[in-house]
Amino acid sequence: MAGVILEKVTKLYGPKIAVQDVSLACKEGEFLSIVGPTGAGKSTILKILAGIESVTSGNVYFDGRRVNDLPPQQRNVSMAFETYNLYPHMRVYDNVAFPLRAPRWNLKLTPEEERRRVAEIARFLGIDELLERLPQHLSGGQKQRVSLARALVRRPAVYLLDEPIAHLDARLKFSTQTLLKEFASKYRSTIIYVTHDYREALGLSDRIAVLRRGSIEQEGTPEEIYNTPATDFVGSLIGEPPMNLIDGEVVTRNGQAFFSAGDNFTIQVRDDLVASMRQAARHAEGRMLTRLGIRCEHVALSRAKLSDNSFQLPVYAIAHEADSSVVTFDLGGCFLYVRSRGETESRDYRLSEKAWLDFDQSHVFFYQATVDVAKV
Ligand code: ADP
Ligand code: MG
Repeated sequence: MAGVILEKVTKLYGPKIAVQDVSLACKEGEFLSIVGPTGAGKSTILKILAGIESVTSGNVYFDGRRVNDLPPQQRNVSMAFETYNLYPHMRVYDNVAFPLRAPRWNLKLTPEEERRRVAEIARFLGIDELLERLPQHLSGGQKQRVSLARALVRRPAVYLLDEPIAHLDARLKFSTQTLLKEFASKYRSTIIYVTHDYREALGLSDRIAVLRRGSIEQEGTPEEIYNTPATDFVGSLIGEPPMNLIDGEVVTRNGQAFFSAGDNFTIQVRDDLVASMRQAARHAEGRMLTRLGIRCEHVALSRAKLSDNSFQLPVYAIAHEADSSVVTFDLGGCFLYVRSRGETESRDYRLSEKAWLDFDQSHVFFYQATVDVAKV
């Protein structure tokens, strides 16, 4: 296993910037996810690590050794793609065994050893019944697991997995995710994992890098990324429903700072948050505009007034989930989502009924507006 470092890596395709000044380290044995929307540059980063693409500028290191000029076959990596790239004329068994036979790894396994290795990973991923089939006789989900098995069968220095379970149905996705996690901890593998699905990233990773338009927006543990989004983009990308992002203005009255967004919504801002609110604010036409972020589980919901800072809004919609409900309010311009775990209460709010809401300001953030809230 090896540690991997990207140092100020930029990749241009003609005038198009695919990756911009990305510095990122994955320690030996670490599970690092790169998460971001389509087109953010995730696959490009993996291809650069694999040596399939060169960098325009910057450096790539494996275990402290600069590998910029090392061709793919000399980098000890295994890669799985979202598109399976199986050899159509080979049985599943031979597809999976293929990396074990590649002369460059010089493994020289006996047929018996090879069978054992293939059987082990096939059993692990639940494809042992498929080994004699040709790829054309597999479903998309089966092909994806075969492709993953082929990537995992050998023990390279680094695994590079590009949306390897994107095409599995929800149930299979979850079980394969559990297996991947088990695999990672069993073999202490260095894994760089690309996904646009934040749930996979949160569930699997030791650390996550959030990529936006070729640049890293935030890097941290899953808890850090979820609990303290550095930007409105991260808050809106990670979480379902996404973080509430409310545009409003800073109002000062009698020496107290308030955040106000429309007639029905003004809250007094806790003293320790005022500085960050002012810092994130933008001055426009004599007003101070800012964006407040709070996750839906940090808004309390009640039929009774909860504090002096409570406010009332009419219920717009309710969605019941297994162990909670998401109650939506219309703030005029954006929706406010509230996750309620109350045993009974949230279940019987009526549409248009006025409910009391209260923000837990330990979980309130102020941001410069960088994403279009309407599209969140
Ligand atoms: P992601 O994997 O996050 O969806 P990619 O790394 O595939 O994103 O692409 C990043 C950006 O670079 C996109 O805008 C994409 O259109 C562009 N791009 C990727 N590969 C090429 C290429 N071979 N030629 C031109 N542009 C490319
Ligand atoms: Mg991609």
